Amino acid sequence: MPDDEFSLIEQYFSGLDAGGSVELGVGDDCAILRLETGERLVTSVDTQVDGVHFPPGTPPQHVAFRAVSAAVSDLAAMGARPLGMTLAVTLPQADAAWLALFREGLAAAVSEYSLPLVGGDTTRGPLCLSVQVMGAVPVGKAIKRSGAQVGDTLCVSGYLGDGAGGLAVLEGRWQPGHPHAAYLEQRFYRPRARVALGRQLRDYATAAIDVSDGLLADIGHMAAASGVGVRLEPDSVPLSAALLSHDNKDTALRWALAGGDDYELCFCLPGGHEPPAGAACIGEVVAGEGVDCGDDIDIVSGYQHFSASAPR
Ligand code: ADP
Ligand code: MG
Repeated sequence: MPDDEFSLIEQYFSGLDAGGSVELGVGDDCAILRLETGERLVTSVDTQVDGVHFPPGTPPQHVAFRAVSAAVSDLAAMGARPLGMTLAVTLPQADAAWLALFREGLAAAVSEYSLPLVGGDTTRGPLCLSVQVMGAVPVGKAIKRSGAQVGDTLCVSGYLGDGAGGLAVLEGRWQPGHPHAAYLEQRFYRPRARVALGRQLRDYATAAIDVSDGLLADIGHMAAASGVGVRLEPDSVPLSAALLSHDNKDTALRWALAGGDDYELCFCLPGGHEPPAGAACIGEVVAGEGVDCGDDIDIVSGYQHFSASAPR
């Protein structure tokens, strides 16, 4: 970056570091975050590359918000309380108008998730963001991928496939009618990580994962980590009115099962627990391994090809 790297940091990346968890924010060699007694630190990092994770020309406020949401989604899946984040950002140039909008998106995310921006790194090069998130969970309470038990109910929050549908709209591959296009663009640009739901699930879910790679892939990861199989009912997977408006039902279902970028939570509940509000039951945990979707073999293989070629 130019000599004024420090004034750039001061102008665009400072002042978002206030919060109860912050003892020391931006400006020193490290930030200092507070944990409560009996808590553990959970941390994760997530990178977004221009043209790979979002289309070139994505408005900067959305680039920032989306990158934070993608990272926070991992905290949500563990049931963590957000503490703070750091942002390593590589910028092609110090464009003031672009940076002002970028900061707007960052500020919106800081506020949405109560997640202060406590540090980072700023360099020049092709646009790329790495968001490292830190959160806290009471000892022994983090929801892992590995806890699913045979007989559990498999649930998912929200609507699936909107991320892939939104990308199709943004790339001009699909023109849904009003108001679906605007809804889907928002779902792609401004995904909302399910932090409150994750914290609620901490008390009774046996396992959880956030849906970032595609529902089938992520259920597969959870099943493998737990040493179980999953029977999925594809028809039970919730689709938004926007996706249901698609002429081709197979395309909509493929986006929901394999699309990725939804940032919903997929989780397992022991028998007797109803899914919380806004979540749906989509299958069950069974003995064995892998994900069984009934007779929908085409969709599964379609997904595998899709996944192998997906630029992420
Ligand atoms: P150091 O050389 O010790 O790594 P830097 O000179 O890179 O520190 O950064 C100075 C301060 O500004 C540090 O507190 C750092 O965390 C913060 N900072 C740098 N870039 C960003 C950014 N993109 N977002 C938030 N804070 C940043
Ligand atoms: Mg230093």
